[in-house]
Amino acid sequence: MNLILMGPPGAGKGTQAKRLEEAFGLVQISTGDMLRAEVKAGTPIGLQAKAIMERGDLVPDAIITAMLANRVDQPDAARGFILDGFPRTVPQAESLDAMLKEKGIQIDHVIELKVDDAALVERISGRFTCAKCGEGYHDTFKPTKQPGVCDACGSTEFTRRADDKAETVAARLAAYHRQTAPLLPFYGAQGKLKAVDGMAEMDQVTGELSALLRS
Ligand code: AMP
Repeated sequence: MNLILMGPPGAGKGTQAKRLEEAFGLVQISTGDMLRAEVKAGTPIGLQAKAIMERGDLVPDAIITAMLANRVDQPDAARGFILDGFPRTVPQAESLDAMLKEKGIQIDHVIELKVDDAALVERISGRFTCAKCGEGYHDTFKPTKQPGVCDACGSTEFTRRADDKAETVAARLAAYHRQTAPLLPFYGAQGKLKAVDGMAEMDQVTGELSALLRS
């Protein structure tokens, strides 16, 4: 089973993808995580993407599509994958269709996590991650139990994404509405699009997604 999780930045795609990964034996493929790894490693792709990401704009389709094609070819993707943050433009979706057709596989579900814009700014600007184990937190909605200490691994080092600043969040939301939202009718026309209320409690969202995937 292969699926696409759609929705604006901060909708909970990454969190839910990680939960579904475990429950359904799928692999999460996040183009944002891949790009952040390239930036950290200082690769040519990373050098090109860094400033674009910090502005909240989208990285050019050609770079992303090539990176995704390589990732889907890795052996672990053969058991099924969850695309998180890809595709983000209609040309990316068209390239994906062509790429999968060549491999004889398809996308089974496209699920949109619906969240109001007003909630997204607060969700994004408060989030932080354990630098050691990657556990995600939020200043208001999910603080660490003991201040400054990771609940999961005890580390005291945390990171915040460079593009989670309030100024950049507005640009990322604008990019979503302008370039990514047109994918909803694109997948609607293929009869694959379903929606889940992303404003609900995290566990409830996981429950609804799981029910959709089992149906
Ligand atoms: P994300 O972690 O999905 O929020 O992505 C963080 C940033 O990486 C985005 O704001 C874009 O600059 C870039 N990015 C991630 N995925 C894509 C994509 N599919 N197409 C273009 N840019 C992307």
